[in-house]
Amino acid sequence: MIKLAKLNNKPEIFHSVQGEGKNMGKPSIFIRLSLCNLYCQWCDTDYTWNWEGTPFKHNYDQLPGYKKYHKEDLIELLSDEQILETVRAMNCNNIVITGGEPLAQQKDLRSLMKALKEQNPSTHIEFETNGTLKPLPEVDSLADQYNVSIKLSNSNVAIEDRIKPDAITFFANSPKANFKFVVDTNEDLLEIQELIEKYKIPRQAVYLMPQGTTVASLKQKQQWIVEICKQYNFNYTDRLHIHIWGDKRGV
Ligand code: SF4
Repeated sequence: MIKLAKLNNKPEIFHSVQGEGKNMGKPSIFIRLSLCNLYCQWCDTDYTWNWEGTPFKHNYDQLPGYKKYHKEDLIELLSDEQILETVRAMNCNNIVITGGEPLAQQKDLRSLMKALKEQNPSTHIEFETNGTLKPLPEVDSLADQYNVSIKLSNSNVAIEDRIKPDAITFFANSPKANFKFVVDTNEDLLEIQELIEKYKIPRQAVYLMPQGTTVASLKQKQQWIVEICKQYNFNYTDRLHIHIWGDKRGV
């Protein structure tokens, strides 16, 4: 059984377009899993990990009425067959397994990945991961793409939790991996450069994305980040879903 995030009392599986990174604009089915091994202070899927009784701080703490989540209310357990049935009805062969941190449930994902490919051999499976967990060999053999988003110090996550050299080295050497960094300030860029040099992350696999959850905040940083991409030979990625739907879940 797989623990999915719950949206409007239903497991969060939806058909949309990939909003960020290498496959931006590609029609995709998103399967959002619950649980994360990190606790980024600006996380927009805090309903996958910011449980009652945990000590983590979040930027939303300042919003009136914001409370940590009751874990049992926001997790739905689904079998492989229940997920396959939903995917079949959506008729799309690009599957994005996201979270939370989906590799936190990778042991349970092996049979689902296998079944997805048996059901439709043209299925392409992308993982959105924070780059702290090394995929198991069986998961790696079935995964087609990793969108790795290593967290920087602006996440307020302790460095020993967010930087796992073994896992980063694995992804840096995987031809299936691309790296997406959220950029807000010059300090972020310095950290990104350090990581790229230290782990020999190929520049052509790096995507820089402006930080922001509104069109106005993205626009403010677009030109600055594009110039950096030109200078260092990185790729630029926007956040398409913010332009289309704003900061909305399940789209
Ligand atoms: S790693 Fe991703 S899902 Fe986990 S807390 Fe950070 S932003 Fe949220």
